[in-house]
Amino acid sequence: MLSTIWAILIFGGILTLAYQSASLSVWTSATVFLLLLYTLVGHSSWFGLFSLWLVAALVLLPFNLPQIRKRWLSRFLLNLYRQHQPKMSRTEKEALEAGTVGWEGDLFSGNPAWDKLLSIPKPTFTEEEQAFFDGPVAELCRMLDDWDIVHERADLPPSVWKFLKDKGFFGLNMPKQYGGKEFSAVLQSAIVVKLASISATAATTVAVPNSLGPAELLVHYGTTEQKDYYLPRLARGEEMPCFALTGPQAGSDAGAMPDVGIVCKGMWEGKEIIGIRVSWDKRYITLAPVATVLALAFKLHDPNHLIGTVENIGITCALIPTKTHGVVIGRRHSPLGIAFLNGPTQGKDVFIPLDWIIGGSAMAGRGWQMLMECLSAGRGISLPSISTGVSKSATAASGAYAQIRHQFNRPIGHFEAVEEALTRMAGFTYIMDATRLLTLSQIDQGEKPSVASAISKYHVTELGRKVIIDAMDIHGGKGICMGPRNYLALNYESSPVSITVEGANILTRGMIIFGQGVIRCHPYVLAEMLAAKNENGDEALTQFDDVFWKHLAFIITNKARAILLALTNGKLATAPAAASSVKPYFQQLSRFSAAFALLSDVSLFTLGAKLKNKEKLSARLGDILSLLYMNSGVLKQFADKNYPVAELPLVEWSCHYLLHQIQEQIDGLLRNFPSRLLAFTLRAMIFPWGRRLRAPSDNLGHSLARIILEPCPARSTLIAGAYLDADPNNPVGLMEATLVQVVAAIPLEKKLQKLSKEAHIADKTLKEQVHAALANQSITSEEAEQLLSVDAARQRVIAVDDFASDELMHRSVHNTEVTVKKTAVY
Ligand SMILES: Cc1cc2nc3c(=O)[nH]c(=O)nc-3n(C[C@H](O)[C@H](O)[C@H](O)COP(=O)(O)OP(=O)(O)OC[C@H]3O[C@@H](n4cnc5c(N)ncnc54)[C@H](O)[C@@H]3O)c2cc1C
Repeated sequence: MLSTIWAILIFGGILTLAYQSASLSVWTSATVFLLLLYTLVGHSSWFGLFSLWLVAALVLLPFNLPQIRKRWLSRFLLNLYRQHQPKMSRTEKEALEAGTVGWEGDLFSGNPAWDKLLSIPKPTFTEEEQAFFDGPVAELCRMLDDWDIVHERADLPPSVWKFLKDKGFFGLNMPKQYGGKEFSAVLQSAIVVKLASISATAATTVAVPNSLGPAELLVHYGTTEQKDYYLPRLARGEEMPCFALTGPQAGSDAGAMPDVGIVCKGMWEGKEIIGIRVSWDKRYITLAPVATVLALAFKLHDPNHLIGTVENIGITCALIPTKTHGVVIGRRHSPLGIAFLNGPTQGKDVFIPLDWIIGGSAMAGRGWQMLMECLSAGRGISLPSISTGVSKSATAASGAYAQIRHQFNRPIGHFEAVEEALTRMAGFTYIMDATRLLTLSQIDQGEKPSVASAISKYHVTELGRKVIIDAMDIHGGKGICMGPRNYLALNYESSPVSITVEGANILTRGMIIFGQGVIRCHPYVLAEMLAAKNENGDEALTQFDDVFWKHLAFIITNKARAILLALTNGKLATAPAAASSVKPYFQQLSRFSAAFALLSDVSLFTLGAKLKNKEKLSARLGDILSLLYMNSGVLKQFADKNYPVAELPLVEWSCHYLLHQIQEQIDGLLRNFPSRLLAFTLRAMIFPWGRRLRAPSDNLGHSLARIILEPCPARSTLIAGAYLDADPNNPVGLMEATLVQVVAAIPLEKKLQKLSKEAHIADKTLKEQVHAALANQSITSEEAEQLLSVDAARQRVIAVDDFASDELMHRSVHNTEVTVKKTAVY
């Protein structure tokens, strides 16, 4: 009995102190107090007591005597650390160090500060931004006819190109001093969302120059002359830019590019100057076929030391006007289902002046770092926005279609199996929007959140692909038969484009999210790595000693938090005061954040440098971090709107889905963890009561499907931002109008069904049933008109296009010709 009390006292004390991150002095005092208590009232031999005091002294003294700890323990550990540190190339190092850390850093801490999350300003537009969104953006949407763009002309029409240039769409984020709009990331994204909901070609054409640029590179790194010359011209659309990094030999591993520039002397405008002779072969370059200025990444060498002492200077970016002798552009690739301009470019021994390097000679060799910095924000904007726009439009369309389209005398959306797909679409679209907005809000606060951007890029595009697949299935043959009435097939066809560009998704999941996250977002790992790299012995030891023991305390705290929060099902964790309706979700996230922090450290300590090649484990850890991030986004979005009850089913479904996924990813990680003993111990700590979280229930799913089947406030929020005006080129907008009509007529249709059944004419056509009901005065003439008009609208919605055989043949030949020829409108 007594020994049980002592055990409770000791383990309870340890867990409490660790959970509270007690300081060293508190640990020391508590240990001494317990030992004194045991000496006075415990029943132990003198030898036992002496042993206890000795062990305590051996453990506590080094920690309380910093010089001893540093000289003996820390030195030994630093040497060990150095032996196991992973080797890293310069490009890998620059990629890992790029950007800043935002909310994702809190998730790595194991103890996220929810008030901090909720204090990130919510996404809003300024008056000027709102006016642009309601004015030029809406007008542009009205000008877009995606079938014409993709299938008739394989390009945007000249009037749209002119509109984009005249209204400043190519300088959305550029500073006003250079003629740009200087809009927020939130607005930039909202524009791309809206455009993507009607034309992925238009969305991509706007997104790309506003992302990597090269305007963005010029703003941050350009010389004054380069900025003054290029930025106003780019903002006005007088220059059409492209950015060329990828080549046939170097795709994901772009740092391995074989394209070279040799510093040499050459003739330039009649004079001999020092310049660069560049050769390149690039492919997949967006806007290259029509670019007037090519931002080119290549490896710079200075074999004759004309500009310095270093021979292999490294990756460098230069701006090359495409009219320069030797620059080859013009041919086009044909990316799936989209008509944006994309193609290869080559150059052989093209001589360029040194001051064409972005940032001038001073930035020679800094190209990779520049790219990674700019991608840290850009990756969180363009592709997540395109996928969100497509998903919002597909969700609106599928909900409406599932209500309008009847089979077996019922709307197809009322069948449970269809409802399942509708539920996923609604839930995923909600999660995508929340994730996108959390990253954008951070970017607008000045962050360049490289890990958050990678999370957004990967998960929003992956969910987007799932949404469009569900939409296709719900539409059946209507999704398959191409034509102006088909608003899905082009987006379905082109969904792999978002998956592949700006960091292909498999690589982003397997290498980047956790690989970069653990170094950038972990509170101590980067500091330890820098200390280990420091060649100044004493300084390195001091840095390492300072950070390593804090790291150890951090692990102990997270261990205690993971255990206690798991035992209490998160009840010990705090949640924001106003969030009572979603408190358990905040608590579960705190619980899993602690578990994630523990798992990250255990993985790092046990696998060390090997973790880099364990992509399956790294991917699972990245998924856990991402799911925590996305769920934070969902709760923040809900809080930003002041917890509207109408949206609660969407929030609950999203939280159940994401938390269940977190649980399953942890399970997958533990099942495959190399050390079985550690996996067993970690499982006991993280899931002491087993895996008890369940995926969202069918009932909850039913509520989500209902939300998108009929107009309601939650539906409006979910699809807000998509272009849904009922204009002739916008079949989804027309369908929205039909949905309102159809829902309004439901009671009347039910009445007619009943009447027809009673009169035994239910098998007649609708027209015949209406006329019969009108003839015996069971319905009024207005009601008859409403029924016939709804039926006509329904027929228009379910109609698909057909073509004469020679028309189809002509189109396919015509498209091949258009695709390969250089477009001549510029
Ligand atoms: C339509 C389109 C537009 C583009 N626009 C531009 C542009 O404007 N400028 C530009 O420079 N580039 C552009 N790109 C290039 C794009 O960024 C690359 O396609 C992308 O980086 C992948 O390179 P890759 O296609 O050669 O695939 P690969 O590198 O061959 O990769 C193939 C697969 O292997 C996976 N993989 C590779 N290495 C690893 C690894 N270590 N771990 C796990 N998985 C790995 C990838 O994830 C991918 O799934 C564009 C591409 C397309 C298709």
